[in-house]
Amino acid sequence: MNRVVIKIGTNLLTRADGSLNLEFLEKISSEVKRLHMNDVETVIVTSGAVAAGRGELKLNRADPETLHEKQALAAVGQSNLMQKYYKYFSLENKVVIAQVLLTPHDFENLDTLQNTHNVLKLLLAKKVVPIVNENDVTATDELKYMANDRLAARVANLVGADSLILLTDVDGLFEEEPHKNPKAKIVKTVDKRNLKKYFEMAGAASDGGHGGMRTKLEAAKISECEVFIANGLGKNVLAKIVLKDENPGTVLR
Ligand code: GLU
Repeated sequence: MNRVVIKIGTNLLTRADGSLNLEFLEKISSEVKRLHMNDVETVIVTSGAVAAGRGELKLNRADPETLHEKQALAAVGQSNLMQKYYKYFSLENKVVIAQVLLTPHDFENLDTLQNTHNVLKLLLAKKVVPIVNENDVTATDELKYMANDRLAARVANLVGADSLILLTDVDGLFEEEPHKNPKAKIVKTVDKRNLKKYFEMAGAASDGGHGGMRTKLEAAKISECEVFIANGLGKNVLAKIVLKDENPGTVLR
């Protein structure tokens, strides 16, 4: 694989108390460094801005929030999030990063799409890792539906990625709902033409907040490359997928 897009979910980036999970950022930055050293161009799509904003303002996740409140939290949290990415990627691992904030509209307008494409290609050619998030302040629907999985699929198509890797805090796509059957097994390979039954399952299952399987299935549906769903906490998860051709979770192709 020469070019990959990696999406990192909120559950991996934040702790139960709302603070950013710095150990995870440290782990993932050294994993990306390894890809970098193997000349794999990498784009990261990150969530976590809203959660980081909550942490910063010491707000409780259980308190109901309006869309505008979430957008304001993202504005607070995004800079905090990028500061941490800068610390672990740029300062500690010498991997230069760039902040890229996009909205769904950017993919619908030919000019903005072309500009985004050109800039991402230029950054990758310079061995910079773009850290993409939605521009939550101006976006509405996507933020409401927690759809960085979909954003990541669009980015993967735009840069012509070989793989899209959706990192989450579960091991992959389950054959049955794991809440109902704790012995439910991971599905190793899914044919993208047969997503219907998984959509039906995901529709019935509660999303548990961020990182639900429905948006991952949607990402698989719209992406033109193979999609991995894997546990971001797993050891060397990126090297396994990208450098060793292994499948630690589920692959949809
Ligand atoms: N863009 C949102 C954030 O950074 C998250 C969207 C999602 O989790 O899919 O907080």
